[in-house]
Amino acid sequence: MPLLARMLPSPLVIDVRPGAVASLGDLLADHRIAAEGRVAVAVGPGQGDGIAAELSMPDAEIFRVPAGTHAAAVELGQRLRAASYEAVAGIGGGQTIDATKFAAHMAGIPMVAVTTSLSHDGICSPISTLRHEAGTGSYGVAMPVAVVVDLDRVRAAPGSLATAGIGDVVADLCAVADWELAAADLGERVDGLAVAMARTAANAVLYQPGQCRSDEFLTVLAESLILSGMAMAVAGSSRPGSGSEHEIMHAVNQLFPGSGSHGELAGVGTVFATYLRGDLEQAGIIAACLERHELPSTPGELGLSDAQFAAAVSFAPQTRPGRYTILERLDLTEAEVASRIADFAKALSG
Ligand SMILES: [Zn+2]
Repeated sequence: MPLLARMLPSPLVIDVRPGAVASLGDLLADHRIAAEGRVAVAVGPGQGDGIAAELSMPDAEIFRVPAGTHAAAVELGQRLRAASYEAVAGIGGGQTIDATKFAAHMAGIPMVAVTTSLSHDGICSPISTLRHEAGTGSYGVAMPVAVVVDLDRVRAAPGSLATAGIGDVVADLCAVADWELAAADLGERVDGLAVAMARTAANAVLYQPGQCRSDEFLTVLAESLILSGMAMAVAGSSRPGSGSEHEIMHAVNQLFPGSGSHGELAGVGTVFATYLRGDLEQAGIIAACLERHELPSTPGELGLSDAQFAAAVSFAPQTRPGRYTILERLDLTEAEVASRIADFAKALSG
């Protein structure tokens, strides 16, 4: 019988639980990952140092990743390559994971992602998002060979960044709707498996009733972010996780840098783009979810005026040429966007 199936890239190990980081040493001793045990550990400026000190890995060299920039990632990649490491573990938040993922890909070695915050869906994706001199770039890289999420560390992470990934995973609903719009209007091919993974992940978070810092909720969030990242690997593009809401996010980042984290901006973009798509009920459900978890759901909560947000929404299609979404379909002028934003505020509060 012919093999009528596709093979999916996926990590060898997914470990989501309280205290998971304690088994990192054993994981790195897995001979499939590092045959001779020459592993490096890259830590971020947050909890990374503390975790590295607790690991019983005396032979592992520790590298510090100062920022989620392309320059920091390239420097780490050069050092990993020069010293012929077999594998690298990146320990930290989203920026540290992204920089280490890029560096590992550059050095041609496997990467273990040990995440201390659930800030975006890059935990397990084959994409690395890094800042550079002209903005932010998304780079295709190898997927992590293992993903460890320590729920105790996530709970201990400061502020809303720890769970801002809620915004990035509910964004999948918007991204998938945009993809289906592109299929209807332009005949773009939609990947049903990628859609199933992305939409199921988003709905799991949207309808999980637990408190934000409970093990139950954090487990669903972590697993959904992992599935959301894998949906992009299945699709071979960021389509299932990035539509009009990410275009708005990129525009805000370019025009008004520092207005919010990736997950926060994706969440606000999702609520507004869902409203633009004419689905007020769904926009309200998503806004309520963000508010319940103390994340911004309106431009004002990001510190943006309506005029600034209107400028960003009008600029948004230029951030991702070739990606067809509700923004490209409507093709609104800045004045039309401003009037939709005014209606949106009234509709949500009513
Ligand atoms: Zn994202």
